[in-house]
Amino acid sequence: MNKREAEARIGKLRDEILKRNYEYFVLNKSGINESVRDTLKQELIGLESQFPELITPDSPTQRVGSVLSGKFEKIKHKSKKWSLADVFSMEELKSWEDRVEKAVGKTPYVTELKIDGLNITLWYKNGILEKAVTRGDGSSGEDVTHSVRTIKNLPLKLFENVDLEVSGEVYMPKSSFEKLQGEFMNPRNAAAGSVRQLDPSVASERDLRMYIYSIGENNLKNPPRKQSELLKRFMDLGLPVNPEFQCHSSAADSMKYLEKWRKNREKLPYEIDGVVFKVDDFGKQDELGFTAKSPRWAVAYKFPAQQVSTVLEGITVQIGRTGAATPVAELRPVLVAGSVVSRATLHNEDEIARKDIRIGDTVIIQKAGDVIPEVLEVLKNLRPANSRKFRFPEICPLCESKLERAGGEAAWRCPNINCPGRKREGFLHFVSRGALDIDMLGEKVVDSLLEFGFVRDAADFFTLKKEQLLELPLFKEKKAQNVLDSIDKRRSVDLYRLIFGLGIRFVGERAAKALAAAIHAHGAEIAPKTFLHEMREKSIEEIESIDGIGEKIAESIYNWFLEIHNIRLLEKLDEVGLKLQIQPQKKLIEGIAGRSFVITGTLSRPRDEIKKTLEDAGGKVTSSISAKTDYLIAGEEAGSKLDKAKELGVTILDEEAFGRLLS
Ligand code: ZN
Repeated sequence: MNKREAEARIGKLRDEILKRNYEYFVLNKSGINESVRDTLKQELIGLESQFPELITPDSPTQRVGSVLSGKFEKIKHKSKKWSLADVFSMEELKSWEDRVEKAVGKTPYVTELKIDGLNITLWYKNGILEKAVTRGDGSSGEDVTHSVRTIKNLPLKLFENVDLEVSGEVYMPKSSFEKLQGEFMNPRNAAAGSVRQLDPSVASERDLRMYIYSIGENNLKNPPRKQSELLKRFMDLGLPVNPEFQCHSSAADSMKYLEKWRKNREKLPYEIDGVVFKVDDFGKQDELGFTAKSPRWAVAYKFPAQQVSTVLEGITVQIGRTGAATPVAELRPVLVAGSVVSRATLHNEDEIARKDIRIGDTVIIQKAGDVIPEVLEVLKNLRPANSRKFRFPEICPLCESKLERAGGEAAWRCPNINCPGRKREGFLHFVSRGALDIDMLGEKVVDSLLEFGFVRDAADFFTLKKEQLLELPLFKEKKAQNVLDSIDKRRSVDLYRLIFGLGIRFVGERAAKALAAAIHAHGAEIAPKTFLHEMREKSIEEIESIDGIGEKIAESIYNWFLEIHNIRLLEKLDEVGLKLQIQPQKKLIEGIAGRSFVITGTLSRPRDEIKKTLEDAGGKVTSSISAKTDYLIAGEEAGSKLDKAKELGVTILDEEAFGRLLS
């Protein structure tokens, strides 16, 4: 971008940011997304640093509270201030728990909200607040006692005359932040900017608050031995503690807390940017210890920024395994939800027209969890003069067949069943985790196999030879063997996995399982040919009568088994020796089958295990008690559910009685 173009872009960005600030802070309009504003601002900062001569005093980048460093006394911390390791996904969180439990076994956890503020350490001497120090580099920080003393919920004197080093988060409530009308980017900056003021009256006016959550040096009698005890002890001392912390007996239980706050964070009167998970027991914390940077016994799950702005640089068309031609936005790469995104789905032709998306537009993209990112809207004020409308292609970009659009359908389709695009996606689906689950066959390997012509249909995966694999780029002996091993492991799979992997339209995992359960076999195994034969015998009405399969799915399944190339595929899978497992029928237990159960209290076995036992016996387990509940299985320390069961007259079973029911 040259200077003239940059100047024009900077002007537009500033207008858009100011407009958004005004709507958010002054008009209190809801739906103004903060991370969109942040990404616009980042782009502005980038351009301004490239062309510093274009910075003007009224630019929104010039209003962020400046850091008055060097003016505060440097203070050495009494104990090192660690920062927590961040995780951005459930997988990362789970692998942290796995590491913890591998080291110290199953253990209770405490979860706390991660307040988005400024970390401050306090020293109390004989119960009197003596010093407040910023985190700094972890070993020394700045003396900000004069500002922190003005924080209204912080006691200047504790209820006990103890020496104490504690840390916590200084934050600004949302309502106070909004009164500042755009002076800061976010409440965290506002809190930091207010604390680091030389004039303490500024902090005093700005209504800061603090929550305490960790302890350093201290001379407490009977020091707490758990994080949960520590937090309660803080309250006894008069220190403010965030009330939303919670204890959990297991990692699985703590996940619910995360879900709850992911959904409800907007309702809190302060900003949180995640949830902190800690091993409750201090003894186990000591066992786990620290890495060079952070404790091993705690981790911060950071909520991802889910909407950001970026530039749409082009539109391509991707062919799915059913032939659907999906327009894909090629984006300037941007960090969203913890990962860099450069492509997002545009759904279909009508969506592009409805949202008036043009090439060159600045767009807002959204990513939710593992879902494919999508383009939400266009920032029309930022549209460049040379933006271009997109014309949907008439032919398949991969096989040049004429695309078709059936009446009533939103998608254009490539009708060619041998279209390389369709085949590729079909193969990837066939080996994917929910289907055959051949983990060494990733996108790159499948692409190479297609390119070399070694795989023409899904059965060909099972006849691959090592010599063939060694011809592929980047393949050596070991990698080739790994691929062959991962295929060998899947020569015998659950029937539903194959059904799902076949890619029959509308047949997801659930329908695949329903269909598999309706297949009769002598023994636990069935050959593809026998399965094919059974399916060919079924009328469309018979398929539709299977529990969990509706009319549309039944029709699609029926038609699939009529097509010659599909029949040929199953015959070939039979020839290569694929074996299909059939799950044994449930052994229903009278007295349990068809009844509904609720489990509560502490039992000698994990709740999940009991749940599985009940479900295998044909019972149903629900989480809340109602008049429809047949039995409550109550362990020790059963609480409100026990009361409710009594109230509703639900039969209550202790563990012994439950055992009798099973036998
Ligand atoms: Zn095609």
